[in-house]
Amino acid sequence: MSARKSDAISGARYAVPLIQVRGLTKLYRMGDSVVHALDGVDLDVEQGEYLAITGPSGSGKSTLMHLIGCLDRPTSGQCSLNGRNIGRLSDRELAAMRNGQIGFVFQTFNLINRTTALDNVGVPLFYARKGNTRGPARQALERVGLTQRAKHRPSELSGGERQRVAIARAIVNDPLLLLADEPTGNLDTRTGEQIMALFRELNEQGVTIILVTHEHDVAIQTHRIVQMRDGKIVSDRATKEVLRERASAEGEREQPITAPAAPLSAVPVASAASAPPEPEPVVAYAAPSRVMPGAVGALVCGIATVALALAGWGTGRVIRSMYDPSRGMPPRPYYLVAVLSGLAVLAALVLGVVSIAWGARVRKRIRIEPGDWTGRKHAGVAMLLGAMGILAPFVLGLLWRAVT
Ligand code: ADP
Ligand code: MG
Repeated sequence: MSARKSDAISGARYAVPLIQVRGLTKLYRMGDSVVHALDGVDLDVEQGEYLAITGPSGSGKSTLMHLIGCLDRPTSGQCSLNGRNIGRLSDRELAAMRNGQIGFVFQTFNLINRTTALDNVGVPLFYARKGNTRGPARQALERVGLTQRAKHRPSELSGGERQRVAIARAIVNDPLLLLADEPTGNLDTRTGEQIMALFRELNEQGVTIILVTHEHDVAIQTHRIVQMRDGKIVSDRATKEVLRERASAEGEREQPITAPAAPLSAVPVASAASAPPEPEPVVAYAAPSRVMPGAVGALVCGIATVALALAGWGTGRVIRSMYDPSRGMPPRPYYLVAVLSGLAVLAALVLGVVSIAWGARVRKRIRIEPGDWTGRKHAGVAMLLGAMGILAPFVLGLLWRAVT
């Protein structure tokens, strides 16, 4: 266990809270109208806390989570994570923060379908540029009890198992903070309970968790409930206090309650039935559409490079077969072949450079705006081929000398 986890467990308190939000606003312009998604939010979260952000649909819960999670920038106000003001960070620093310190869990799991559970869990490690992704990914799967499913693709897993894979992916980097947006929203009650048990366990191990939910039954399983309405925080209280108040209110009406089984309709937060399905405006771990065109282009360039380098080498051989010094001047086609050969090598060089530059751009893009495995592989292969294209004429030239 890392030092920061043991600090959290021993209850160490820091001068600066893990999260400090001050006067945070976020405006969305939609044509002529302006939506105040967040309207002056203040919030402190200490390391090791477990809290729920709750409120009706459209109250700004996801927006707040995205800003805290470095997925977006505020319109004004300040949001600090671990003492660093997110608003002042460059795109690259923001991405590094997101990849290294924060784990995300979404309602729709957001897993990459064509790869295994194990590789899905390894995605953040790849973006954090860690060499070994398999070892820690296996450990994370073990923590969520899914060792047996490592080789399965998401389509071969149940909803609850998919969400556990997503949670393993969220904790694989040993993050300071875990952010979950309606993590049980797509699960049946029993599976939702298993996921909540997992969160509780992780929090007991020292992970700070912020859970966005509009379900009261889910919210009361955390230790603190922050309620939002119209982009503002309207209440922020310990869960015990909320439950005590409700018990006494219901006692007056002589209705015995068992806390976790409270009906949804009786809760002060939004009801699930009235909430329209929410779009996921930002995806933390996958943006393949932006990456693929560049990666494929780089791959094509790389292949063309090698083809041209081979053509240059081939024409070189032809020249040699035609040129016989004992017969004086070479035959006329010699000049044509020599020019073609030179052009081929030149083209190979140019394409090689383009390919490497392109591949590097794609890689940078993937790092800043996390993409998926295919993009990464294509870019890698393109760079390799590009390098081969550039080196090929020189290596072949040297070999030539050595042989002749
Ligand atoms: P919640 O998660 O509480 O349902 P959101 O934070 O998603 O609420 O949204 C808060 C408000 O901001 C809503 O009115 C929503 O329509 C608006 N909103 C959220 N994201 C965008 C966006 N990308 N563009 C325009 N409006 C947005
Ligand atoms: Mg939302």
